Amino acid sequence: MENAMSDKQFTPDWTNQPPPQDSYRAIFKLGKPDEFKHPRNALVDIMKTEFGMADQDFMQKRDQGNEKAAAPGKSRFSNEQIERFREFAGAENVSISDFDRVKFSSGQSLKEVTDLRRGKPSHVTDIVVHPRDKNDVREIVRYCNDEKIPVYVYSGGSSVVMGITPEKGGVTLVMSTHMNRILKINELNQSVTVQPGIMGPAFEEALNNAPALFNTSRSYTCGHFPQSFEISSVGGWIVTLGSGQASTYYGDAYHLVLSQEYVTPAGSFKTLDYPAAATGPKVNDIMKGSEGSFGILVELTMKVFRHMPENRQRFAFMFPSWEAAVNASREIMQGEFGLPAVYRISDPEETDRGLKLLGFDNKLFERFMALRGLKPMQRCVCMGTAEGEAGFAKHVKKQLSKICRKNGAMRLPGAVVKTWEKTRYKEPLMREDFMDFGIITDTLETSVAWDNLLHLHREVRAFIKSRPGTICMTHASHFYQNGTNLYFIFVLKPASLEEFFAFHREIIGRIVKNGGSVSHHHGVGKLLSPWMETHLGNEQMQVLRALKRHFDPNNIMNPGAQLALDSPDGK
Ligand SMILES: Cc1cc2nc3c(=O)[nH]c(=O)nc-3n(C[C@H](O)[C@H](O)[C@H](O)COP(=O)(O)OP(=O)(O)OC[C@H]3O[C@@H](n4cnc5c(N)ncnc54)[C@H](O)[C@@H]3O)c2cc1C
Repeated sequence: MENAMSDKQFTPDWTNQPPPQDSYRAIFKLGKPDEFKHPRNALVDIMKTEFGMADQDFMQKRDQGNEKAAAPGKSRFSNEQIERFREFAGAENVSISDFDRVKFSSGQSLKEVTDLRRGKPSHVTDIVVHPRDKNDVREIVRYCNDEKIPVYVYSGGSSVVMGITPEKGGVTLVMSTHMNRILKINELNQSVTVQPGIMGPAFEEALNNAPALFNTSRSYTCGHFPQSFEISSVGGWIVTLGSGQASTYYGDAYHLVLSQEYVTPAGSFKTLDYPAAATGPKVNDIMKGSEGSFGILVELTMKVFRHMPENRQRFAFMFPSWEAAVNASREIMQGEFGLPAVYRISDPEETDRGLKLLGFDNKLFERFMALRGLKPMQRCVCMGTAEGEAGFAKHVKKQLSKICRKNGAMRLPGAVVKTWEKTRYKEPLMREDFMDFGIITDTLETSVAWDNLLHLHREVRAFIKSRPGTICMTHASHFYQNGTNLYFIFVLKPASLEEFFAFHREIIGRIVKNGGSVSHHHGVGKLLSPWMETHLGNEQMQVLRALKRHFDPNNIMNPGAQLALDSPDGK
């Protein structure tokens, strides 16, 4: 089949063509249409070994989603209703085309992607509108509230928890098309006021170039770099409570936002951007993480940080065990000498698979490692950066290095970090290649305090590994004084999608049962909402439902179990 076989080493015929225009694949493919990152042959070898696959199994692609995207039915809106949306946002900003309706109804969860691959999108919006500004949003929400039309919001579209799925149809507002400008940089307060639809790269580039673009005295950074940086928006970060890869120093999205302006069915409001105020529970906090269920974020003011990439200090270590890596990490986070920016530890399986992929699996290397007591399936890699003022960054690196060595770690070259930095946003692009041959790679993540970390990791990993032929790699990458997150990556070749989704549900169940949070940074969406009540308890859910009833009495904002707010009481 195609160029599959060669004399020496077999390389699958990975797709190298941009997806056909208007196809399902054009919707779910990660990255730019002509951007690819194919798995190395070493990774294909791992798949063959783990999943009992042969070269032949990498010859027949399936469910590629190359067909023209089709909505399951026509828009249910009358001509008169469509005309109203045209009046609100301009005719050129309203679409009922099949492609637009399917595209702006789909995020990046495995459920949505596999539906598109099979040409069966399950929920499709009736109309897509690209508001030009907050006045358009206000008019649309008022009209939809009067008419009881469901309103969904799509920004970057990178949700992996079915946050944007239009369960009830209705209208989907796309925030990233027009509402994507920086409005003001306040240098004295070191803050930026921005529209929510601006995407990560445009935001960071503008801040880095602030002297030229905004006449500031220095350049800035946003400090928020999720793996989805290139495909997600600033507003999306805040309303899903996301975390960037340098969050240990800069903070999570939660910590970065100073004030927000919302349009809700109950009315519009702007929170105040005082550095702190003893004025009772903060509405500003309540709205963070509201995932489009209370209202629409139309403007926000964020912290920014001085941009000093020249001061970045890189470090990498190899620990003899997961326990040693965890212990050192806790000591670092509680050490009171300053925090690193990026800080990650990988468990033994992630460490060893990473080494193999980089070609470090020969006898000489293993002999050297053994001499240092760094054994396969025990050793754990740690890497990161220290940022900020030059002396501070050096100091943080020096202090944390001492703690790592005290816990038995061996220093690795800083080049390890540079390699990671180069590919960090591109790794997910391999998903399409794997799925073309029936291999699924997915992730679940959770928050955990130090005193439960080892237990949670052990239990969830044991469950994932109890399924024969399943790769499970875990890391922690967002650290706090009292704990961290665990990020489970599992790779398998399921017998069927039903088998995969049952397995996936069971993993979530194990995370919650063993004391992990439902999510650390992906949000809840409609995917994780069935676990919310068990996780938070009835009292806290009733508080959230009361807020929902206040902001959205007609349940038009992202209805259909988003955040479990209109389930199970059916409101
Ligand atoms: C490959 C990959 C890697 C990822 N890595 C990370 C990571 O490292 N860290 C992390 O935190 N997340 C990560 N995610 C998840 C996702 O990128 C984040 O949840 C992100 O914050 C979503 O932003 P978005 O602009 O794409 O929002 P969307 O997907 O468009 O929307 C997400 C939710 O927010 C709502 N929403 C969006 N904008 C508004 C608004 N203006 N007003 C009201 N509601 C709104 C939507 O209705 C939806 O419920 C990853 C996702 C992928 C696909």
